Amino acid sequence: MLGPVILAASRSDRMRRLVSAAPVTKPVVDRFIPGERVDQILPIIRDLTDRGLELTMDVVGEDITRPDQAEAARDAYLELIEHLGPLELGTRAEMSVKLSMFGQALDGGHELALKNVRPVVEAAAAIGTTVTLDAEDHTTLDSMFAIHEELRKEFPETGCVIQAYLFRTEDDARRLAASGSRVRLVKGAYKEPAEVAHQDKHEIDRAYVRILRTLMEGEGYPMIGSHDPRLISIAQELARLAGRKLDEYEFQMLYGIRGDEHLRLAAEGHRMRVYTAYGTDWYGYFMRRLAEKPANLRFFVRSMVSKG
Ligand SMILES: Cc1cc2nc3c(=O)[nH]c(=O)nc-3n(C[C@H](O)[C@H](O)[C@H](O)COP(=O)(O)OP(=O)(O)OC[C@H]3O[C@@H](n4cnc5c(N)ncnc54)[C@H](O)[C@@H]3O)c2cc1C
Repeated sequence: MLGPVILAASRSDRMRRLVSAAPVTKPVVDRFIPGERVDQILPIIRDLTDRGLELTMDVVGEDITRPDQAEAARDAYLELIEHLGPLELGTRAEMSVKLSMFGQALDGGHELALKNVRPVVEAAAAIGTTVTLDAEDHTTLDSMFAIHEELRKEFPETGCVIQAYLFRTEDDARRLAASGSRVRLVKGAYKEPAEVAHQDKHEIDRAYVRILRTLMEGEGYPMIGSHDPRLISIAQELARLAGRKLDEYEFQMLYGIRGDEHLRLAAEGHRMRVYTAYGTDWYGYFMRRLAEKPANLRFFVRSMVSKG
């Protein structure tokens, strides 16, 4: 029951101030968000790629309130891409973006987000890589899918994310699988009402498997975004049944979670991509990581109490 409470807190300004100012926060945050600036993140990119892992880079931030913040988000990604270019990693380091950080919720937000994200997709293509559009709460998804479709006209490799907990996702998966998209499937990390989303963990897992089967049997490139050991073995089996080779799908996990498993899958010959977040506006991202695992929250609260 803690998860929904933390997710509600992740939208509270008062909690944001409290958590951000707590002296123990930083070391706990560092586990999931290992840097604030590009120069701090470059050694991590080198280290992970040296170990045979691939990356998708996220400059943290979301739910901005002014157009200049959307431009700042665009510029932060452009700065990152400029630094990635000389490393010549190609698709081994791609970008993940949240459209709410590019202005999607502002007046005229759909057009604004498209206008701000397009230069990032262009710059990524210029260094031989691509961008994936993260999925945020369900009210933003029609706009996200429309932007994805628009970008794919010029950049067909642009990816998107679908969330197994939403009822709509089985239809979205069929459409995306038929159109040959790169699609990351995740369980879903936002607080969603019962009218639009499964609430029961087992229902979500069952939906995940149904949707994954659709993606594996389809024309696209499935990206399995999960740390769940059961879903990972089911994914391997579904890929085998669909006759997919090891480079015709990939696993993705978050930086700081089940690191040994990243290396194990890579050593087995799988493409294993680590979602690596960095930047200063880490609050929303961090709170979702706490909500996913109550033990994280207990650890966080215990450190606050012992230091207090
Ligand atoms: C690469 C990637 C990209 C994602 N992108 C999006 C997105 O765009 N939109 C979206 O809504 N969600 C996204 N998510 C989050 C996702 O929706 C889930 O909230 C998250 O992955 C937890 O679900 P799980 O599949 O790992 O399974 P769970 O059943 O939650 O976890 C399985 C096991 O993994 C470990 N684990 C999982 N989460 C944590 C954690 N926070 N801390 C410590 N251990 C943990 C635990 O050992 C747990 O038992 C993404 C996840 C990944 C891996």
